[in-house]
Amino acid sequence: MINNNSSALNLLAGWFFDGTGCPAQKNVFIKIKNNIIKSVDNIQSGDLRSRDIIDLRHCTIMPGLVDSHVHLAMSGSVDPAVRDMQLSIIFEDIKKIMGARILRNLSCGVLALRDGGDRACHTLNFKHKYLNFDKYPVCIKTPGSGWHAKGRYGRFIGQSPQDDKTLKDSVVSFRKNIDHIKIINSGLNSFKKFGKETRPQFAFNELKEAIKKGNNLGLKTMIHANGKEPVRMAIEAGCHSIEHGYFMGHNNLRLMAEKGVFWIPTLIPVNAAAHLFDKTSKEAAMAHRTLEHQFEQITIAKKLGVKIAVGTDAGSIGVYHGKAVAEEMKLLLKAGLSIEDVVCSATCNGAELLGINKIIGTLRAGMPATFIVFSGGPLSILDKLFLPEQIYINGGQWDVIKM
Ligand SMILES: [Zn+2]
Repeated sequence: MINNNSSALNLLAGWFFDGTGCPAQKNVFIKIKNNIIKSVDNIQSGDLRSRDIIDLRHCTIMPGLVDSHVHLAMSGSVDPAVRDMQLSIIFEDIKKIMGARILRNLSCGVLALRDGGDRACHTLNFKHKYLNFDKYPVCIKTPGSGWHAKGRYGRFIGQSPQDDKTLKDSVVSFRKNIDHIKIINSGLNSFKKFGKETRPQFAFNELKEAIKKGNNLGLKTMIHANGKEPVRMAIEAGCHSIEHGYFMGHNNLRLMAEKGVFWIPTLIPVNAAAHLFDKTSKEAAMAHRTLEHQFEQITIAKKLGVKIAVGTDAGSIGVYHGKAVAEEMKLLLKAGLSIEDVVCSATCNGAELLGINKIIGTLRAGMPATFIVFSGGPLSILDKLFLPEQIYINGGQWDVIKM
């Protein structure tokens, strides 16, 4: 499905984000040779007369998007029967659905996914059996299943260590072919009591040992945690990212900035909940208030220099694979980040977190020619991101129309 590949390609872009957090540049000339970006310069008057130029001066070009938190084996459906069914679905039945979800991400310009786990390890299975680059040119990183404490939240996306095994031993026994470790260290947000904190799921030393074991194996650890204590423990134990981080507080944000821990604030699931509850209900009001509080934390994080990555939690209730990325980006903008910060969170920061920043995430000389093109200027991108006009992957054009 990728139309390969002319050895040389020259593009004129009306606007250009390099992904690093710099503001959009106007009128940029991008030279590509052998599928690698050769140069990125301002358009000179002579360039317009050059041959073999693709004129995209009505368009913006930016790096491909990264969704740093999805559950590929789960649907965003709000139907309880569907949500129930997907917990027991077998691999043979879900593999086609997962393929379609990957292609939907691709059609939205999302070229890399960081999975948050599923109980049956369907995503891990899919990755190793079916993820070939010709059919699905999307990078997927997955932990297989997540890990939660017995009797605590997380059964549908993870497993708990067996009685005779520690968290560290469980993570190790499971290491085959996984890309990172996922640990769940708190419960969910409450929409009945504002800011209600759940206790940590694991003891500090258990977390620390498991993360250390992961480090020895070259695996990063993502930790689901809301509330001050579960988040503090995760950071002090050496985790690489905090997922959600609702109500974690100023001190934890400061610690994250100091230690370079990434934050994936996952705004859409709470936004979706706010709109799914009856408008006049206490729960809807609580969800809106929770979201506002997360916006305030994002403002503090920005001031402190915490690295934020866009993650949607696609597959949770009301959060749909692919288009959720632009929705999350819009919410980050609403929270007060600039458009270039938001683009950086959805590209450069995600790529760094996934460890794929040599192949995606920024656009500069020497990087593969992998980027998305949409009509209009920088401020219109969030509306247009649902459907980029063109997608280039390693210098070849992905056929958007055929999708
Ligand atoms: Zn999740």
